[in-house]
Amino acid sequence: MATILTHPAVPLTVSVVLGRGIIPSRLLEFGVLCAILPDVDVAMFKLGVPYESIFGHRGFTHSILFALLIAMAFRYGSKIGRERPWTTFLFLLFATISHGLLDALTNGGLGVGFFAPFSGQRYFFPAQWIEVSPIGAGFFSARGMAVLRSELLAVWLPCVFVALLGIALRVNAKNVRGKSVNDSEK
Ligand SMILES: [Zn+2]
Repeated sequence: MATILTHPAVPLTVSVVLGRGIIPSRLLEFGVLCAILPDVDVAMFKLGVPYESIFGHRGFTHSILFALLIAMAFRYGSKIGRERPWTTFLFLLFATISHGLLDALTNGGLGVGFFAPFSGQRYFFPAQWIEVSPIGAGFFSARGMAVLRSELLAVWLPCVFVALLGIALRVNAKNVRGKSVNDSEK
């Protein structure tokens, strides 16, 4: 896995790019939850489920089907889901799937079971830029620091770049709108 500190980077970035008007803070909170939720499957080790099982770590809870089910659950089971059905569904679907996408960029463990439970195949991306986070290791060990450094470079820096770009585009669009309103009032 990437660390629990880094998975929320993706929904946070999307919310900054789209703005509070589209992603209110309540929905962002659910997005952060969805981005870390797939790792509940580490509990499966305690239950004796092997890593490579469809229901083992990086299996079903990291799949596209799981992300669809979670997004549907929030879409129909939450107040914000009833107020903004499509935004809630799509944002939380992306937040949940982003977890597996980041894990597939790590350089250790088994790959991600995107198509579980229909297929037991595990996947990595060809580029594995993120140092895998050893399960149960402390953040402040030497290994933990190497993991955080790689996540900073491979996830947080691109996310900050995309967020800043998104803010710049929104400010620019607002200025253009303001200018055309002023021009039409002349
Ligand atoms: Zn994971």
